[in-house]
Parts: sequence; structure tokens; C-alpha cells
Amino acid sequence: MKYIIYARKSTESEDRQIQSIDDQINYLNRLAKDRDLDVVEVFSESKSAKAPGRLVFEKMLKFIESGKADGLLVWKLDRIARNPLDAGRVQWMLQSETIKEIVTSDGTHRPEDNAIVFALLTGMANQYSRDLSTNVKRGIKSKLEKGIWPNYAPIGYKNRNEKITIDKKKAHFVERAFVLYAVGNISLKDLASQLYEEGFRSRGGNKYHKSKLNEILRNTFYYGVMHMHGEYYLGKHEPLINKELFDRVQVVMSGKGKAKRQTHDFVYRGFLKCEECGCALTATTKKGYVYYYCTNGKGNCDQHKKYLREEKIEKLLASTFDRLEFNEDFVHFMYLADKEDLDKAQSYKQNALDALLDELKLVTTKQKNLLEVLCSGTVKKDAYTEKEREYSKQEIDLKAQIAKMQKIMDVEASTLEQQKNIFLTASRAKKEFLASDQIKKKEKLEILLWNATIKNEKIAQLSFDHAYNMIAKTENKNDFSVLRRGRDSNPRAGLTQLTH
Ligand SMILES: [Zn+2]
Repeated sequence: MKYIIYARKSTESEDRQIQSIDDQINYLNRLAKDRDLDVVEVFSESKSAKAPGRLVFEKMLKFIESGKADGLLVWKLDRIARNPLDAGRVQWMLQSETIKEIVTSDGTHRPEDNAIVFALLTGMANQYSRDLSTNVKRGIKSKLEKGIWPNYAPIGYKNRNEKITIDKKKAHFVERAFVLYAVGNISLKDLASQLYEEGFRSRGGNKYHKSKLNEILRNTFYYGVMHMHGEYYLGKHEPLINKELFDRVQVVMSGKGKAKRQTHDFVYRGFLKCEECGCALTATTKKGYVYYYCTNGKGNCDQHKKYLREEKIEKLLASTFDRLEFNEDFVHFMYLADKEDLDKAQSYKQNALDALLDELKLVTTKQKNLLEVLCSGTVKKDAYTEKEREYSKQEIDLKAQIAKMQKIMDVEASTLEQQKNIFLTASRAKKEFLASDQIKKKEKLEILLWNATIKNEKIAQLSFDHAYNMIAKTENKNDFSVLRRGRDSNPRAGLTQLTH
């Protein structure tokens, strides 16, 4: 069989993560070499495939129709056709076996498999955003090195084509978040509330969660430095703040907890709201007892006169933690079962990793030998350089694959531990909450609780934070299979940056 390479780069903004034409061709040439495929011609063009009538595409089809080639090498299926007309033509060429095989980075497709027809017609536009192959990563890295952010713009910025521009509706709130927090006497939760009241809203009109603010305040992007995969790059975008302000915020963040705690602080203040009017409950001391009540900030709340003893609130909250309780033995069983699965999967990966390490050793030896040959004078400088370059490339590729494999294994292992801890924290929540002192109680609430409102001396609404809310919603907590499913629906760590 004879193959042609076809590479295309579209100019559309949705192709944010697509490879350059050179990257595509290099990759495909390597693929052809690995599989010993006979490449007779290379076609490339940079037009969008959305409208029919691409010149090079036309030429390529003619080339195949004339019988000069019957195999096609492309980066992804959607490089070939993204409109129905092109798709129909390629589909026909497959059915009539004018094209006998299409080889892509995802796999090989032949006329008899139905998937290809479907894939061509639906245009797989989302494929690359999910693709985390080394090659895509390399494309991303080259963008980062040019100062281009290859991802969704953080809050306060907008994506405009390849550029990141300031989102005028939100940028000043981001700046204000840094300024307010740098002063050092506001919690993330209060900061979220204050900014919400000033008009800082999510796309759905909601308040940003404190965890989002935490993310914003830690993002170096705002002073002009992009951070991805553990490395830093200088961005071309306009900073919203200077580094000095950013650094001050980091100092406040790391020192938080010590400065904030005050002995006369009321434990539940800041956690409870009035169901009727939405005001925060505040507290007062009367005859040695602590009472909470609605501040009646809006002046017409009928809950205003209802005072709630602190001990009562403690009981009410503690009883909601029942909803988080799992049988701890089950949690351990789940952990062991998962650990067993993981160990199996990881021993497979470990073998692959060992093979890669062996290969790397081999390449290193080859490089050493090559140098010896050069020194002995039996090889020409040009030949040496070419070989040397080939080995270096292999070395770099292998090292990247090794690092990727190690990272995946690390993330898998730590995710499992994290999940176990979430379940254990949930299961022990009530007992530990009741046994804690005031400061520890507050810490537990900060971890577990997201929102709680009070009406007529009872809890009217309550939701837990993140994963805990999912646990609270899980029914039949004594059924082991439910527990394992519950675990699957938990948010997983790692590799989320490119897909959000
Ligand atoms: Zn009220």
C-alpha cells in the first residue's frame, strides 16, 4: 500500500489546542517510519475544513482517485472533513475501497468499520481537548513559551482568538479581591459574600464559592506569569495586579488561622443565616449563655426576636452529620478493594515503565558508544551529528513518556488515599465534632459546611461542601456496592486543567 500524509491547520478559535502543520507532519512521518508505511506524498494546507472547496484537499483526493495512493495518514479524523460534502466524498472513497486505510494518532480505520463513517459525519471537533498525548502537550508547551495561554482564560479575562484580553465586567473585582484580602482581616468566606454584594457574580448569577476565591488569589496569571504542568512562563497578557500585591496576599494566606482566631469569637457566627430574610445570624451573651439571632438587617424580619442557645445549635448541626456517616469497616473494605485493583493496574504500568527505563538506558549506551567511535576517527563528523541528533530525540521522547507514566501513577495513588480520607472524615464527623473544643469545631465546620439557614429555631436548609454533599446524598449507606459507586462519582484529582 502507498500512503499520503495530509496535514491541516484551521484558523478557527475552537482549534485552540491543535498542532502546527509541522508538528502534524513530523508526528505522521515518525508514525509511518515506526510502522514501515510507504509514504509517497505529503499534502498540507491551512484552510478551515468547514466550507468545501479547499484546493489542496481537492488535489489530495484526485491523487488518490488516480490510484497513486490508497492509504491516508492524518493526525485526527476531523483533519480530513468537517463538512458533510467532504465527509460524503471520503465516505464514498472508503466504500468503493479507493481508500483502503486511514491511519491516525488514535488508531487505524478501514472501510469495514462503521465507526469511521460516524466519526467523519459528526466531525469529532471535541477530540483534541480530551487528548492528552505527548504531542498535544508539546504543542501546548510551544505556545506557553511564546507567552500564549493555551487554555480558557481565568476569571477577569476573556479568550479572544489566540489572545487573552481583559474582561472589563470582572477584572476590577479580581483586583479588589487581592486588595481586600491583602489587608489581612477578612476570611475567604466573607470576601466571597462582600464581593457578591458588590456585584461579582458567576455566569449563572451566583456567588463565587470561597474555594474559587482561593484559586484566584493563588493564581500567578494575574501578575503576568502563567503556570502549567509545574512550570512557569511569562505571559503576553496584561497583568491585573503587580507582583508585590500578589506576594503580600500569599503572606496573609499562609499566616491565616493564627491571626484570625480570637478567644471571644462566637463559634457559629459566619456559618448561619436567617432563612426568612437572608441576613447572617449574630451572637450575644446573656447571663453567661450565648444566644444567636437574626440581625434583622432589612428591618422587617419576623425571626428577629427568636434567640437560639449555642448548645441547641450544636445539637442541630451535629444531628445533620448523621447524613455523612458510613460504616467505617465498609470504608476500609472499599479502600482495600480499590487498592487491590490499583496495585494490579499499577503493576502493569510498572512493567511498561521498566521497559521505558531499559530503553532509555540503551539509548544512553548508544550515545556513549557513538562518541567513542567518533574519537577513534572511524566515522565522519556529519554522520555522527545526524546519529547524535536521532539519539537525543529518542532520549527526550523517552524521558517525557517516563515522566508522564510516573505522574499518572502518583496521581492514582494519592487520589485513592484522598478518597479514603474524605470518607473517614465524613464518617467521623459527628463524633469528632461533638468532642471538639470551640476552635476545632469551627475548623470542622469550615471543612464540611457550605450553607445553613435557620428558621423557628430549626435548621431550614443545609448543604455540605463539595464531596461531602455527594456523600450526604448517598442513600443506603450500609450497602457496600452503593459505597463503591459513591466513590466513583467523587471528583478526581489531577488532569483537570485542560478539560474544564
Ligand atoms: Zn431574618
